[in-house]
Amino acid sequence: MPTLPLSLDLLLLPTWLVPVEPAGVVLKDHGVGIADGRIVFIGPRLEALKHTARETRELPDMLLTPGLVNAHGHAAMTLFRGMADDLPLMTWLEQHIWPAEAKWVDEDFVRDGTDLAIAEQLKGGISCFSDMYFYPRTACERVHNSGIRAQIAIPVLDFPIPGASSADEALRQAVELFGDLKHHPRIKIAFGPHAPYTVGDENLEKVRVMADELDAAIQMHVHETAFEVQQAVEQHAERPIARLARLGLLGPRFQAVHMTQISDTDLAMLVESNASVIHCPESNLKLASGFCPVERLWLAGVNVAVGTDGAASNNDLDLLGETRTAALLAKAVAGSATALDAHRALRMATLNGARALGLDNDIGSIESGKAADLVAFDLSGLAQQPVYDPVSQLIYATGRDCAKHLWVGGKHLLDDGKLTRMDEQQLCATAKAWGQRISSQPH
Ligand SMILES: [Zn+2]
Repeated sequence: MPTLPLSLDLLLLPTWLVPVEPAGVVLKDHGVGIADGRIVFIGPRLEALKHTARETRELPDMLLTPGLVNAHGHAAMTLFRGMADDLPLMTWLEQHIWPAEAKWVDEDFVRDGTDLAIAEQLKGGISCFSDMYFYPRTACERVHNSGIRAQIAIPVLDFPIPGASSADEALRQAVELFGDLKHHPRIKIAFGPHAPYTVGDENLEKVRVMADELDAAIQMHVHETAFEVQQAVEQHAERPIARLARLGLLGPRFQAVHMTQISDTDLAMLVESNASVIHCPESNLKLASGFCPVERLWLAGVNVAVGTDGAASNNDLDLLGETRTAALLAKAVAGSATALDAHRALRMATLNGARALGLDNDIGSIESGKAADLVAFDLSGLAQQPVYDPVSQLIYATGRDCAKHLWVGGKHLLDDGKLTRMDEQQLCATAKAWGQRISSQPH
């Protein structure tokens, strides 16, 4: 503990503080001091008040946690929200989403859809998200302007996609973006080969070589459904995760999204490679894809993060709600009420997400030296009373509307529930106009 008074930019004084690391700790009447966008002090309120701060903010009846990390999504798909519901995955993709994307997705679509997604996420306590969508340079611009933090995974498929006529072109764009944004404080470029059934061995090998060279992460949908695994076994006599292991893709920088089908051998490969799994329970439920065995993975030592997936298949970007679903579903799937307790659920939505994205040295917990990515949830409402354990209240009894303040790198992006850098009315009007255009010209 420093003895000299610190000179802080901001001092936050919440009623409860949950640092996430160390695990399971709730600090009452503590303060967090921030200087140059980083956390420099955590200590009891009386100690905190001895330091000088340019701004001191009392957060009564509020719980301060690390900003939530939405580890998987397709941001601009907000503009397709609710367009094709209640359909199985392949029908949904082949007959609705892919034709709509071919018709509508351009740079303007990605700009407006990504802005809408960023605004929705900030309002729900999310300070960092992962994106895998077309025109990634445009998504990077929106992230840069908004102040949020993101991993942008460049989509790679064997066939032409909006903005890239081939996988080689997508890979060239990825390398260029990687070079341009190497030193960006809030944007990390990754590779996003879509899924085992849309990317062949040749392109996957190219992804592996480039990712190794650049020390970049790879995010991919893997084992989303039983059908995907069954078809791969019938056609190639190999389970997709085994194929990825054979091609050398699995490793600590690999992020396997979904994993609803896990054999003992699959689990051993995940453990051995130290890859992360990104669980998207609501998308899996809605598309009837299956259940990711979170507790089994967790107990085996696999890092499990949580993501909302795109708004066209969820249909919201509500990571707090997603985390509650994950906590409830984990118990049903494991047949055990002790599975994924509230504190571990919050860890999954923060530090595990940061670790999956390779950002855990910088974000994911409230620790001295980390970036000040923080969210304050208001627990003063009727539905939160009485508060025995604020983390239990947050996970099981609180909606994302209770996110009142949010900072990314110490920048105040949500102030008393209001976005400080984005115009909510304008975003709604733009989204409505897209909806009218799209519904007036069915694909
Ligand atoms: Zn997805």
